[in-house]
Amino acid sequence: MQEVAKLGYTPHPIRGELQTVVAAIGDERTHHTLESLTALPQVERVLPVQKRYKLVSRESRGSQTMVNVDGIEIGGDNFVVMAGPCSVESEEQLLSTAHAVKARGATILRGGAYKPRTSPYEFQGLGKEGLRLLELAKRATGLKVITEVLSERDVSIVAESADILQIGARNAQNFQLLIECARSKKPILLKRGMSQRIEEWLLAAEYLLTQGNPNVMLCERGIRTFETYTRNTLDLSAVAVAKQESHLPVIVDPSQGCGRSDLVKVLCRGAAAVGADGLLIEVHPNPAEALSDGQQQIGFDLFGELVTELKPFLTAANRRLV
Ligand code: PEP
Ligand code: MN
Repeated sequence: MQEVAKLGYTPHPIRGELQTVVAAIGDERTHHTLESLTALPQVERVLPVQKRYKLVSRESRGSQTMVNVDGIEIGGDNFVVMAGPCSVESEEQLLSTAHAVKARGATILRGGAYKPRTSPYEFQGLGKEGLRLLELAKRATGLKVITEVLSERDVSIVAESADILQIGARNAQNFQLLIECARSKKPILLKRGMSQRIEEWLLAAEYLLTQGNPNVMLCERGIRTFETYTRNTLDLSAVAVAKQESHLPVIVDPSQGCGRSDLVKVLCRGAAAVGADGLLIEVHPNPAEALSDGQQQIGFDLFGELVTELKPFLTAANRRLV
């Protein structure tokens, strides 16, 4: 009791025959964490009653958050398709893809200018030139643009060209980067880390919201498992949990999610059925020649087929394509 009070909480004991439960009332944001009490011999367990993610949690808001991306409302009944190449490679590649995905139902163009590659010898992205090409594609098509920010250093320059800042799986818990991105006030798409628990993912989103930026979307992109038939295991149950636990829109990236172009279409249906608010799909004019992730990118025809065949699933899920 005294120890609880010392940490600044009000103790309320509930005495049982063998054990005493001490309810500690107070706000974790302004007091010390109670977990340290487990170090005391008389303490068996410390159990948080409230969710650790306060602003992200569904209870903190009466309604679903709608993220407004320069006029496109994401969330609620709306379903958004973001599509484009894994990497921006050239003007021709990006512009042809932008026109193709727009004609087939996408409203947001994806494309990495700064690429987080596993090997330093692989294509690292066009950098500033890639951003210029994204702006060009945006002007030519009217599509909004999402692109990844790799480092704190690049936040302001990427924010000038992009409508949505993408935080990649490898940076999902780079908290300084998260804070800088949030401060830009741009809408943010936060990928789930490849071995991140759902709670950790939601806590990473909490970092963004604590900076006063409510325009956050969560993105499930597959996690590392023992499976080898797919590059990652797309965790659709995490989408359902994230929708239950939080008020933020949840986007599914089936491309990184499975790493196989032949599975992208069916996983999109699964995403729609489980309650996702949108998709992030890799599309390339010629996947065989892609400078990154060729095995999982789909061509224009397959993308068109995918969107057409997705529509009945969206209707069944009470969603409309925006
Ligand atoms: C990507 O979208 O191309 C990408 C690198 O994603 P992730 O961070 O999910 O691996
Ligand atoms: Mn990729």
